[in-house]
Amino acid sequence: MYFRLSVKSIITRLLTILSVSALFGFLIGQTLLVLCISTLVILCWHYHHLFKLIKWLWRSKSLSPPQSEGIWGKIYDGLYRQIRQHRHKQKQLNERIRKFRDGAEALPDAALVLSDELTILWGNKKAQRILGIRWPSDVGQRIDNLIRFPEFSKYLELGNFEQPCHIISPINSELQLELRLMAYGSDQVLFLARDVSKIKRLEEMRRDFVANVSHELKTPLTVVRGYVEMILTTEHALEPHWQKAFSTIETQVSRMDRLVEQLLVLSRVENHADEENKQLVDMPKLIKTLVDDATWLNQDKQHKITADLSEDLWIEGIDTELKSACVNLISNAIAYTPAHGSVHILWQRSGNKAKFSVKDNGPGIRPEHVNRITERFFRVDKSRSRDTGGSGLGLSIVKHVLHHHNAELAIESQWGEGSEFIIYFEVLDKS
Ligand code: ADP
Repeated sequence: MYFRLSVKSIITRLLTILSVSALFGFLIGQTLLVLCISTLVILCWHYHHLFKLIKWLWRSKSLSPPQSEGIWGKIYDGLYRQIRQHRHKQKQLNERIRKFRDGAEALPDAALVLSDELTILWGNKKAQRILGIRWPSDVGQRIDNLIRFPEFSKYLELGNFEQPCHIISPINSELQLELRLMAYGSDQVLFLARDVSKIKRLEEMRRDFVANVSHELKTPLTVVRGYVEMILTTEHALEPHWQKAFSTIETQVSRMDRLVEQLLVLSRVENHADEENKQLVDMPKLIKTLVDDATWLNQDKQHKITADLSEDLWIEGIDTELKSACVNLISNAIAYTPAHGSVHILWQRSGNKAKFSVKDNGPGIRPEHVNRITERFFRVDKSRSRDTGGSGLGLSIVKHVLHHHNAELAIESQWGEGSEFIIYFEVLDKS
């Protein structure tokens, strides 16, 4: 349907009516009167349609406008066309919204759309099942009024949404949830909550399994090691081939023993993220003891071990874990740095952080390996690591300890020139 507004035809039509009226008036000798009457009739006709239009716009429930001829017919047709276009667009929009909602309902996660002020705009059915948030009755409520967990409030406060937040479901204490927030559009936030209870349970089972197996292996290994040591130190000299065989057994059993010990430490660190065990730790004293032990144990390689420790820099943490992290970095530096190399240990304030650094002039680490060396069982050079008795677990232990202490690990290394392992801790002054 297309209408072209022609001013010429409208004026022609009006002039025709007025001319016919004037002619008729002239014939009966009342030109002016007839002209006035016909103008009045035209005006009334227009007013009549104007009122019809107002009545339809404000009172009628019908979608189709009134019918008419002439210019008013065109106006009504135009309006009807606009309404149909509008309805078509609305239908398309509704279809899109329906598809988005179907998609969001099909998600295995609870999904909520929040405003930038974190008030609820929309939620799927899963959100009701695992979070107890109902749509549309909870619309307009702030998310932190409905999910009241200190860890979630802290997560929102920090505003770092790259990492997920873990909470227990507010309506079912057996469900462990992983929450993620993502800003989208100009002023909206997508909130996703995933049930990770199964994954957590499997992780727990894996940790328990490793811890139990390591624990069970410890006793037989100690027994074998004890007997081998007894045989090797017996008064009667062994034949050379037996001597060699028992020495190899002793080396391998010692390696297994260290591996089992590291596995036990790792599962202990993984299992006990106990905030209550945190206390003020005299780090200078702890590091000094480790440096002394390292110097004493390092007679063979004759490294130059130096330390620069800030005496009054204490931090809050779990002392056994902190010790474990520092020991691993120091013993790695000693293990991988060739004889007569140097190892420098530093404990100093750096800005608003406390910096623990172990720097050596050993072989360094290639850039492509730097990101992987904290992975469990990752060893750059397996044969060299075997020589040093490495298990590939030391830096995983460090990583877990740092996670418990909100600390960060930085690795600076030049291949062929040496490495520096730095830990940045949050500072708490001795008071
Ligand atoms: P490992 O018990 O094998 O030392 P780690 O997890 O402590 O296991 O270290 C992983 C790997 O990182 C090591 O196998 C080694 O290749 C590399 N590495 C760690 N510290 C150093 C260092 N100071 N210099 C060179 N390489 C290192």
